[in-house]
Amino acid sequence: MNRRDFLKILGLFALSPKKIYSESRNTKNAVVIGAGIIGSSIAYELSKRGVDVTLIDKNLPGSGCSGSSFSWINATYPKKPYSYNLFSQLGMNAFRFVEKELSLDIKWNGSLEWSSKKKDQEKLIDSINELKKYPKYTPTSIIGYRKARKLEPNINFERNENIIFSKADGAINTNDAISKMIDAIKKNGGSVLCPCKFEQIIDSNDSFTTIKTSTGIFKSENVIFCNGIDVDKSLNTNFLKKPRPGVIIKTKPTKKTINSIIYGPKIHAHQQRNGQIIIGEQITAPIRENSESHLKRISNHFTNMVDNTTYFNSSEILVGWRPIPRDDIPIIGRFKSKSIYVAVMHSGISLAAIVSNLVTQEIVDEVDSKLLDDFRPSRFF
Ligand SMILES: Cc1cc2nc3c(=O)[nH]c(=O)nc-3n(C[C@H](O)[C@H](O)[C@H](O)COP(=O)(O)OP(=O)(O)OC[C@H]3O[C@@H](n4cnc5c(N)ncnc54)[C@H](O)[C@@H]3O)c2cc1C
Repeated sequence: MNRRDFLKILGLFALSPKKIYSESRNTKNAVVIGAGIIGSSIAYELSKRGVDVTLIDKNLPGSGCSGSSFSWINATYPKKPYSYNLFSQLGMNAFRFVEKELSLDIKWNGSLEWSSKKKDQEKLIDSINELKKYPKYTPTSIIGYRKARKLEPNINFERNENIIFSKADGAINTNDAISKMIDAIKKNGGSVLCPCKFEQIIDSNDSFTTIKTSTGIFKSENVIFCNGIDVDKSLNTNFLKKPRPGVIIKTKPTKKTINSIIYGPKIHAHQQRNGQIIIGEQITAPIRENSESHLKRISNHFTNMVDNTTYFNSSEILVGWRPIPRDDIPIIGRFKSKSIYVAVMHSGISLAAIVSNLVTQEIVDEVDSKLLDDFRPSRFF
C-alpha cells in the first residue's frame, strides 16, 4: 500500500461513526411543525431512522391540546367505523414498544364505564353489542358493581349491575412522554426549536418545501404539519370542525385512590404513578365560567363518585381545545405536493405510537401504508 492510500484509509477512520452512517444512508431531512404528542412522536421515530429532523413549536412542547388531555389510550366503542377502531387497537399495541424504549409512565389497568340514567345505560350496552360485531375488538366485558368494587374499592358504582370493563386500556402521563421523546430526539442528533412559529409556505414542489418561520427560513424534503387546531389556518384548508373545549383538572400528588380509568356518569378520572389524579368531564366545557367554578363543579362530581376523599387538592385547571376532523376520522398523509405531510386527529394520544410508526415508514421507506388508506387528507378536496 502506498502512503497516499494509507492516508486515505486513515482519514476514513477519522470520521465520526455518525458521519459515515449518515453519508452511507443518504440522509433525508424533515421539519415537523408542532410539538404535541403527534409531532413529538413522529419526530422521535424519524430521528431513530437517522432522518435529520427539526421539531418546532410556537410555544412550549405539550402546551397545546396534548398537555390538557385526559390521556386515555383506548379502542373503545366510540371509535368507529371498523377501520378506525382497528387502527386504534394497533395504536394500543404500538405504545407497548415505545413504553419500553422510553420507560413511559403508562398504567394498563383497564377502564370501567357506566351511566346512572337508564336510557344512557341502555345505549351503552347497545354500543358494546355493536362493538362485538367487529372481527376484532379489545377485550370488553360487563361486570356488576360487586366485582367492580374489588378492582376499585374507593369508587361508588351506584349499585350498577352493568359496568363496562375494557381491561386492556391504558392511561399515560402525556407531558412526561413528550419530554422523554424530546430528549431522545436531541440524543439522536435532531433539533427542537421553541419558540419557533411557522408563518407561511414560501414555495413547494415534490422535492422540497420552503417555509418562513419566526426564526428564519427552512427548506426541507418533508414538512410535516402536526399543529392541531391551527392546521387549517396554516394550510388554508377546511379539515376541522370548530374546536371543542374540555376542562381537565390535575390534582397534586395524593394517596393511592384509583387504579384504572373510571368513566362515571358526569366525570372521568385516573391516577398517574406520581400520585396526580387527572379528571375530565363528559360535557363540553362551559368556557364562560371561570376556573373557580370549573373546580367547584368538578370537585362536587368527584366527591360523589369517589369515597374517602377528604379534600380535593387541585394543582392545575386546564382548558384543552380538541382538533376534530370534519368527519371525526384522523387526517394523515401527503397534502398537495410530495414534500408536505399532515397528521391531525382527535384521540391523538391513543394513536400517536401507530401514527408515528406508519408516517415514518411512508417518509423514510417511501412505501404507502394500506392502513392509512381511509385517513388521507385527499378525501376533503
Ligand atoms: C379535555 C380533552 C381530553 C382528551 N382526552 C383524550 C383521551 O383520553 N385520549 C385520546 O386519545 N385523546 C384525547 N383527547 C384528544 C387528544 O388530546 C388530541 O387528539 C391530541 O392531544 C392532539 O395532539 P396533537 O399533537 O395533534 O396537537 P397539540 O397537542 O395541540 O399540538 C399541536 C402543537 O402545535 C403547535 N403549533 C400550532 N401552530 C403552530 C405554528 N404555526 N407554528 C409552530 N407550532 C405551532 C402548538 O403550540 C401545539 O403545541 C382529549 C382532548 C381534550 C381537549
